[in-house]
Amino acid sequence: MHYNMVNYTLYYFTQHMTLDEMIENWSIRDHGHLKPNNISWDDYFMDVARVVWEKCTCDRWKCWCVIVRDYDIISSWFANAPEWSDTCDKAGHQMISMTNDKWEIEEHCMRNNCAEQNAIASAARIWIPLEWATMYVTMTPCTIRHCAHMIVACGIKRVVCDKRYQHWQESEEIFKRAWIELVYLNDGVVEY
Ligand SMILES: [Zn+2]
Ligand SMILES: [Zn+2]
Repeated sequence: MHYNMVNYTLYYFTQHMTLDEMIENWSIRDHGHLKPNNISWDDYFMDVARVVWEKCTCDRWKCWCVIVRDYDIISSWFANAPEWSDTCDKAGHQMISMTNDKWEIEEHCMRNNCAEQNAIASAARIWIPLEWATMYVTMTPCTIRHCAHMIVACGIKRVVCDKRYQHWQESEEIFKRAWIELVYLNDGVVEY
């Protein structure tokens, strides 16, 4: 990150970029793409993440996750059961009832790891640290399965969500305490 900042400062002085352009496109690797109306990096990685969605085996809510560090995709995965376990599309959902924070009964499928957990585990398998990384996800990472807790624990510093999850409050509080930036690209709340 610091390497890029030095490079970018040099670029700024040689190319006479406006300060806004510098902030918007501050990676030295973005040189070839500085044009008006270009897709933002957040939209770009979120679009990539939406392709990951296609692989989901549980159709109750198809979740995606892509982890990026300094404009490189370092991990991606989708909500899915661990290897050698049954998947929802073949064996049906594994439903449980639980009480939410408003003391209402909710039903959830517990067969799968969340997309965030699978993406974190995928990075661990090939020895990729996630410190300072950015995570792109379908919705606010959950607390029911401790996704928000794991994101803090592995050092991710920015979380970009497509939409808000219905149980967003506790996760947002966890991220705020850990100085993790949380961004929503679209309005609306996902309920399932
Ligand atoms: Zn399922
Ligand atoms: Zn989760």
